[in-house]
Amino acid sequence: MTNIILLGPPGAGKGTQAGHLVEARNMVQLSTGDMLREAKDSGTEMGNLVAGVMARGELVTDEIVIGLIREKLETVKADGFIFDGFPRTLAQADALGDLLAEKGETLDCVIELEVDDGTLVKRVVNRAEEARAAGKPVRADDNEDSVRIRLMEYYKKTCPLVGYYYAKGVLSKVDGLNDIAAVQSDIAAVLDAD
Ligand code: AMP
Repeated sequence: MTNIILLGPPGAGKGTQAGHLVEARNMVQLSTGDMLREAKDSGTEMGNLVAGVMARGELVTDEIVIGLIREKLETVKADGFIFDGFPRTLAQADALGDLLAEKGETLDCVIELEVDDGTLVKRVVNRAEEARAAGKPVRADDNEDSVRIRLMEYYKKTCPLVGYYYAKGVLSKVDGLNDIAAVQSDIAAVLDAD
């Protein structure tokens, strides 16, 4: 069983790469962003609570996202989990370690997707423009103001996880500026080397 985290700022390509891993390796993607958007779209009490925070680009509370992940880990069977967009704070990272340990499992690998900040903002704004042009729903937080706040949240709260996982000896870095297929094969090389 392989459990991995895809770490990186908004627009780094975590969701895209997680999607490939699901198809190629029969792993299960656990995206807290997707779970929160589902809660928001279905209008649950929690969904209504987080909608404004998400639209602004701020992080929702640790308690909420840890609860979502705990529930999935208790109910979903998988050959391995891909944590996408979780953990985003040190408290979440500690909680994930505890949750996996309770199941007798370990975190095998953390892949940091490195991307330059200017490229990130452009990517996210383009993602919104493409969705709009194709008549698809546009994420409420895919606009330049929210992206800058998401990036600030990343640097203030999530960035320390790079050092945290390096110190644990599980961090690998992949250049996220390459095209999707190249990033995919770099990630495969990291996973197959383990
Ligand atoms: P994402 O789809 O991963 O970009 O997440 C979209 C938004 O959901 C974020 O900007 C946060 O508002 C919220 N969110 C997702 N995952 C987390 C998390 N692990 N901790 C706190 N907030 C989160």
